[in-house]
Amino acid sequence: MTATHQVFNQPDPLADINLLAGNAALQAALQFNAPGLDTAPLRQLGALAGSAEMQRHARLANVHTPELRTHDRAGHRIDEVEFHPSYHALMGAATAAGLHGTPYSDAEQASGHAHMKRAAAFMLFTELEPSILCPISMTYAVTPALRDNPAIYRDWAPGLTSRAYDPALKPWRDKAGVTMGMGMTEKQGGSDVRANTTQAAPDGQDEWGARYRLTGHKWFFSAPMCDAFLVLAQAAGGLSCFFLPRVLPDGSRNVLRIQRLKDKLGNKANASSEVEFDNTLAWLVGEEGRGVPQILAMGTMTRLDCALGTSGLMRQALSQALHHTTHRQAFGKPLMAQPLMQNVLADLALESEAATALAIRLARAFDRQADERERLLARVLTPIAKFWICKRGAALAQEAMECLGGTGYVEEGGEGVLARIYREMPVNSIWEGAGNIMALDLLRALRKGDVAAALVDELAPVRGQHQALDRLIDTLPARVDGGTDEAGARTLARDVALAVQAALLVQTAPAAVTGAFCASRLGAPSDVFGTLATGTDFGAIIDRAMLA
Ligand SMILES: Cc1cc2nc3c(=O)[nH]c(=O)nc-3n(C[C@H](O)[C@H](O)[C@H](O)COP(=O)(O)OP(=O)(O)OC[C@H]3O[C@@H](n4cnc5c(N)ncnc54)[C@H](O)[C@@H]3O)c2cc1C
Repeated sequence: MTATHQVFNQPDPLADINLLAGNAALQAALQFNAPGLDTAPLRQLGALAGSAEMQRHARLANVHTPELRTHDRAGHRIDEVEFHPSYHALMGAATAAGLHGTPYSDAEQASGHAHMKRAAAFMLFTELEPSILCPISMTYAVTPALRDNPAIYRDWAPGLTSRAYDPALKPWRDKAGVTMGMGMTEKQGGSDVRANTTQAAPDGQDEWGARYRLTGHKWFFSAPMCDAFLVLAQAAGGLSCFFLPRVLPDGSRNVLRIQRLKDKLGNKANASSEVEFDNTLAWLVGEEGRGVPQILAMGTMTRLDCALGTSGLMRQALSQALHHTTHRQAFGKPLMAQPLMQNVLADLALESEAATALAIRLARAFDRQADERERLLARVLTPIAKFWICKRGAALAQEAMECLGGTGYVEEGGEGVLARIYREMPVNSIWEGAGNIMALDLLRALRKGDVAAALVDELAPVRGQHQALDRLIDTLPARVDGGTDEAGARTLARDVALAVQAALLVQTAPAAVTGAFCASRLGAPSDVFGTLATGTDFGAIIDRAMLA
């Protein structure tokens, strides 16, 4: 076909770049939250995650999607999901980078920045491939909940924290590394898990404590090839949390029937399944009747990852848009040189930097849980960050895709990175508590301590820097001290998010970024990107966002 014409003015793919080197926003966030942090391992990961070779794995893992094999040739139930080798290559790389349970190892805990380092690495890896991070994230998140069964935790902690990826179906003691998932959602209710109908019947006691037999189902059960899961089921004392391994301590298989895999909008490389339990063995974690708070100790960490992952995807979408508009000409000059495109790109860059700043600040709070104020901030900022960053992420992906014009909408065997990002974006907003649930959780969090005082402290360093920010900050104490009802919960979540984001930018970003963010977000925010005031220093904002 090309015999009829020359192909030109089509930018090359964005490949073989160091994702950390070109990300001034992430570097600034790390410098602010952990001055003097050794970023050499992150640079290494940035190079790996930006390499053409790993991008090839990401493409292949998304095109050759997981396949369910319920039975073998002879008719035995096997309930296996088969993945493309590129999926395993990505899982191996993520595990080697310590993105799963590694922050809970003694060595990492001693660094004082275990969660933040891992947060930055998680963000960088998300730019490579987000969907395989589902089991990685759940394995990271499980420790705070699993610790409440000390016997199981003692046996499983070495595998959870190890940097080895071992996909074989074997008992935990024979594996170099293990992964874990979670099962809460049932057909009749996901947000309202108290509606769970799966039953747990007592089955004696052994070295892992109280053993039960579970019968019922889970409607969403991602990464069913994990080695074990935390699940909710109804016991005599009420909804309870259970540890459910795929292989039992004696080496036999537990009953975990994978009914089918979900046909999803995005998140293609990850298998999400529907499962049934039939007298399936599981062990109690925590107390009977305390299942929801127990599993939420895990949910809190995956919610952090939703904010981190979306920030990573936003940065990736922005990078793609910057790259394309630099190398694509229209009407006689690069798209990047067109004033209106500069307005769009600068606006996207503001959003991306604000998301990064908030997500990394939140991760810092998880490194300082001994400090009451940080503990409270982690509790309050987790639903806020998940709600706001995920909402903005979906809008940003649409606009970044549009910067590439028609090519942005094209998949072409997985080459269309922006199309993939666009399809992926909504999942972080929905799973682990959709937007309304996050906003309602914020109202619950406000009752957990003196949140107003914690926010006032957090925002104190920026008082007097920007009038609109001062005005917003002035309104917050009364609103968090009980002045907001359910119907207003999203508005409150948005406003606290914006205040914290603006305050972080004031402390970490150049004046051009801070000024434009406050001017465009704190007054009467626009619904669309590319509506910054015409006098805005677009060049300074875009230069900061440009890849190195
Ligand atoms: C790709 C993917 C993977 C998933 N993986 C897992 C997994 O591994 N394990 C697992 O347990 N679950 C998983 N989920 C399920 C997910 O967590 C649920 O879908 C989610 O929690 C919402 O539950 P629901 O689908 O039952 O929706 P519903 O609970 O019916 O909610 C529907 C809508 O109503 C809103 N809503 C609910 N209550 C209120 C209220 N009181 N006031 C105002 N609005 C309200 C919600 O915000 C939501 O927007 C996954 C989902 C997806 C999409």
